[in-house]
Amino acid sequence: MPPALDDHLRRALADRLRYYHELGIYDFYRREPAAVAVSELVPASIQSETREEMAARKSAAVAAVDDENIFAVLTPKPEQGAADPVAALKLIREDLGDCTRCKLHKQGRKQIVFGVGNPRAELMFVGEGPGADEDTQGEPFVGRAGQLLNNMIKAMGIRREDVYIANVVKCRPPGNRTPERDECDTCSPFLMRQIAVIKPKVVVALGAVSAKNLLAINAPMSELRGCFYDFLPSGARSTDPSWQGAKLAVTYHPAFLLRDPRQKGEAWKDLQMVMKYLGLKPPKSSE
Ligand code: SF4
Repeated sequence: MPPALDDHLRRALADRLRYYHELGIYDFYRREPAAVAVSELVPASIQSETREEMAARKSAAVAAVDDENIFAVLTPKPEQGAADPVAALKLIREDLGDCTRCKLHKQGRKQIVFGVGNPRAELMFVGEGPGADEDTQGEPFVGRAGQLLNNMIKAMGIRREDVYIANVVKCRPPGNRTPERDECDTCSPFLMRQIAVIKPKVVVALGAVSAKNLLAINAPMSELRGCFYDFLPSGARSTDPSWQGAKLAVTYHPAFLLRDPRQKGEAWKDLQMVMKYLGLKPPKSSE
């Protein structure tokens, strides 16, 4: 357990880290990692960084860190000692527990929808949040939008079981409303940890909410789509030094495509970009 800080110091530290995150700096290294207490990491003045070495990464993935999550950035995660991604995901799920960290826990959720798929997937899809079907079944993308996502995956020449699918928030927002900023900020660190242990080559953000949360870019879909971003999950680090992050692509959410099928061609272009990067070929029509 980190030592308790008084409110003033805690807020000042949160402000300083938020400032660094806005600059794209989110990795902090201690010179004496095993023995240094959190309070020692932060000089009393909070103005000096002499005990920290900071590295800027070329990444657009800089999620906001709120006061409550501030130590989640600095504290080693339980999954970091896990032998494989299956065990690591299990530890993250255990850490999440019967989560009450944000208000979505008391707004009618039936269950937490953690994520599903191949723990060693090269390709991850990240949506916004569970809907009614997902809330009932405990699995992301199982309703009509899920069927369409399955078809999209199949068109890429792979199977649903080959990829990993998750959402920015793990509890259903009431009435399928868009998850709010504080809910995304509270829940997304768990998604970041999932990504860090799965180590995909490509993450596909489904829809603007997912894209904006993963990339911390506030831009319309027309600007977000059509390119790859260098992505490192913020606040979570892979234990595999050979994994230098993923490429992140943005495409339309399947629920949006159900409402506006004319955009399916555009989504297919996004997926073709991903297929080319991963060396995937669409199945022959007879398959
Ligand atoms: S949405 Fe995420 S942070 Fe909020 S209660 Fe559910 S699991 Fe916890």
